[in-house]
Amino acid sequence: MKTFLIFSLFGILVFFSSCKNSTSDLDHALSTISVDELVNQSKILGSDAFMGRKPCTEGETITINYLESEYKRIGLEPAVNGSYFQEVPLMEILNTPDKKLKIEGNGKVFDFDLLTEFAAFSMRAQEDIKLDKSDIVFVGYGIIAPEYNWNDYEGLDVKGKTVVVLVNDPGFGTENEAFFKGNSMTYYGRWTYKYEEAARQGAEACFIIHDTKPAGYGWGVVSNGNEAPRLFLADENKYADRCAIQGWLSQDAAKVLFNQAGLSTDLWKSAAEPDFKAVPMHLKASMEMKNSWRFDTSHNVLGVLRGTVRPEEVIVYSAHWDHFGIGRKVDGDSIYNGAVDNGTSLAWMLEIAEAFQSLEKKPERSVLFLATTAEESGLLGASYYVQHPVFGIEKTVANINNDLMLPYGRMKDVMITGYGQSELDNYVAKVAQKYDRYLFPDPNPHTGMYFRADHFAFAKAGVPALFARGNCDSREHGKAWALEKEADYLANNYHKVTDEYEEWWDLNGVADDAKLLFEVGYLLSNESSFPKWAEQSEFKDLR
Ligand SMILES: [Zn+2]
Repeated sequence: MKTFLIFSLFGILVFFSSCKNSTSDLDHALSTISVDELVNQSKILGSDAFMGRKPCTEGETITINYLESEYKRIGLEPAVNGSYFQEVPLMEILNTPDKKLKIEGNGKVFDFDLLTEFAAFSMRAQEDIKLDKSDIVFVGYGIIAPEYNWNDYEGLDVKGKTVVVLVNDPGFGTENEAFFKGNSMTYYGRWTYKYEEAARQGAEACFIIHDTKPAGYGWGVVSNGNEAPRLFLADENKYADRCAIQGWLSQDAAKVLFNQAGLSTDLWKSAAEPDFKAVPMHLKASMEMKNSWRFDTSHNVLGVLRGTVRPEEVIVYSAHWDHFGIGRKVDGDSIYNGAVDNGTSLAWMLEIAEAFQSLEKKPERSVLFLATTAEESGLLGASYYVQHPVFGIEKTVANINNDLMLPYGRMKDVMITGYGQSELDNYVAKVAQKYDRYLFPDPNPHTGMYFRADHFAFAKAGVPALFARGNCDSREHGKAWALEKEADYLANNYHKVTDEYEEWWDLNGVADDAKLLFEVGYLLSNESSFPKWAEQSEFKDLR
């Protein structure tokens, strides 16, 4: 009896100590995440020595070599055939459009001015592009969405024609969550989708009618880019299958266009009704564009911790390394440091890598750390990765990305951009509770932020993707203060030379986010199930 009792006690002790081991293993890993190291990394990555981290420049070489040395120091394995670098072939194209977009028809001839009334781009690597008296058709939102029983192109042949479409989707301004997700923008609302769909339909040109609120950005953002070279992934067909012209019309220009066509702008409202039918405008558009381009190569930087049980399954952490490099001088400074965009997130990712590496019992699944290039040019590095993944996309469990992690201290909220898209939210909720934090859906879902950072490249490939961080509710100063700070950053530092490391920075919030999202990945890395997309997600059938 006594012997039995002793053995039982021994068993219980062994049981408890093994529990304690896995907890202390996790706790130890969490304790390696340090504010000092985050500060140190952000200072280095945001310093002038990195020259603004622009792809295909000396700044790239310095940045990717630094990341490689950090991966080595941490003990990550090279993930691409013995190398930490994945080559990303890029094409840089400079569009020089005509200063005028000519419109004729209905017995009228008039034109619009470049930059103030229209903007025109092309992805086609073709020296001369001619839009010649192309018939204009108003196709509402320009959307084909079978899950909402919606087809703006139904019964329409737009080959060689110019389509004019509205920005955002028919759900905008409604509270009806079941109709294009109400006020939250679906992917159908993004300009990238509109151009993709117009090209699939064979349209020669596509102009989107700009409107600040549903677009989420002002006319300046649209027109500013029209005189600078732009980067795309290199394409074998030189994007011959894309529309010749991808453009925008200002609100005022669009009103003039409708007026001259003898059409009421009430059509913009009826375009959101299910019985809306496309309307030929009986006007023709003409313009020319000259293009020049060159090819270059940039690099994603990948390090991996191999899984011990299911190494072919992977959790991908990501943060873009690129920013805008050296540009126009403002107050004597010409280096776009990108300390917040995206230095703090790179620091966040490196701290998480270190935490995983410090685990005594290594994860069952592989964990990949992916520093992407050319995010600022349209998620190019991340898109290239999902087209050329190192681990199978069907074996990619989740993507956990971060971007723009602000230096304003500890936050109570965990803001999820694209809240409700997948079961990953549940993992965040579970861990957030432990840290006395709460989930907070992105307060501006109509701006389509879910489609404007690298995690979206994964979502588009069908991989559940998470973009989450503390942002809106300061532990010390409350909500109003946090939102004021964010607004201040966006107005004064975002994409400016002043996005630099400052001595007053408080990265305790980034440390909290590193702990929280390390733990989310830790849970995923030791499971065998795959988190699913939500039923109403537009990405659920893609993988
Ligand atoms: Zn960014």
